[in-house]
Amino acid sequence: MKDFAPQPPAHGCRNAPVLKERGQREVFCGLTGIIWLHRKMQDAFFLVVGSRTCAHLLQSAAGVMIFAEPRFGTAILEEKDLAGLACANEELDREVDRLLARRPDIRQLFLVGSCPSEVIKLDLHRAAERLTQRHAPHVRVLNYSGSGIETTFTEGEDACLAAMVPTLPDTNERQLLLVGALPDVVEDQALGLLRDMGVAPVRCLPAHRAAETPGVGANTVVALTQPFLNETAAFLERRGARLLSAPFPFGEEGTTAWLWTIAQEFGVDADTFARVTDAPRARARKAIAAAAETLRDKSIFFFPDSQLEIPLARFLTRECGMTAVEVGAPFINKQIVGPDLDLLAEGPVIAEGQDVDLQLDRCRAARPDLTVCGLGLANPLESEGMATKWAIELVFTPVHLYEQAGDLAGLFARPLRRRALLSGLEGAA
Ligand code: SF4
Repeated sequence: MKDFAPQPPAHGCRNAPVLKERGQREVFCGLTGIIWLHRKMQDAFFLVVGSRTCAHLLQSAAGVMIFAEPRFGTAILEEKDLAGLACANEELDREVDRLLARRPDIRQLFLVGSCPSEVIKLDLHRAAERLTQRHAPHVRVLNYSGSGIETTFTEGEDACLAAMVPTLPDTNERQLLLVGALPDVVEDQALGLLRDMGVAPVRCLPAHRAAETPGVGANTVVALTQPFLNETAAFLERRGARLLSAPFPFGEEGTTAWLWTIAQEFGVDADTFARVTDAPRARARKAIAAAAETLRDKSIFFFPDSQLEIPLARFLTRECGMTAVEVGAPFINKQIVGPDLDLLAEGPVIAEGQDVDLQLDRCRAARPDLTVCGLGLANPLESEGMATKWAIELVFTPVHLYEQAGDLAGLFARPLRRRALLSGLEGAA
């Protein structure tokens, strides 16, 4: 039988030594996830219980809509609220009552915790239970933390989905559950490919609407679409679901490996798989080849940020001909990124956690052609003549599956082309 599994290198990185660092971090907080989650979950509202700093982050990063009712907001705790937690709870209840009275379309309300000490003292889990009782059955209130002390920016989505798992209904149905907030266009492509292979039923977490919330149980098979969903995956396993082990669907090879793992689980034969995927695979390969001309033989250095680093290093080295110098990730959960580590040829430093000054020293010494990092590091490195790519763009841009594979490679090629253009202009001046 034809096998669509990728060929691993002689020595992969699964058992490579990991450089563990625990120092100062340079990353966004988990509130950032609200920006893509609120687009996905059409009848949800995210109420950040936080400070003016949190409100500013959301307003500047997400651009709060002024003329339309946004689906996220901030309940700002003022100094007076510090006087007593009872006051803070009453204030929160009043805010929620006002919001829900004004917005009958809201069916799920997330109370999102943040860093200020007065917020940390509030028991948002109890507040969510109290408010669920008060507003049931119309609205379910859940809570999670987006605090920068506890979360990096993609952990916000993980915390949000993990908060939903205990509330999912039980089901014994044999089903595939796609987990992770994909942009609609990408989710539709995934569902289309799986439908054409005959994989059914397929459900998504998060769903577009509360009424479409999937169930979970012992016959649920989970395919993660994002590598940062560690806690959600653990919670789903506790509910009896089984996690598929596959590389993540970035690039042609990653997408094929991810789909092939699902196909084998659901008994799809190789001919059917080939019939459904041959054309999009060819399109993806062609699109990647165009961007790979710029990327081939260039070196890349990943600062830990989005938790996409390991699957992306696998894609860029195997499909675009780049050389990875260092692949840093905030956390490395081998149960989840192990299949990507298997495919990543040994050579790069694999680092977990961050000590930003030490890592900057290593980056400056290596002088990679491209550095993937957060916004805070990009400007200083650019001013030192190094090309950078903002990690956050990788989460905001549709990058999964075949049709986006060329765009994904293009995201990395663009800063290199820009830099080549600028140095050409400087040379001509
Ligand atoms: S880091 Fe903390 S205080 Fe700052 S925006 Fe995020 S949650 Fe709010």
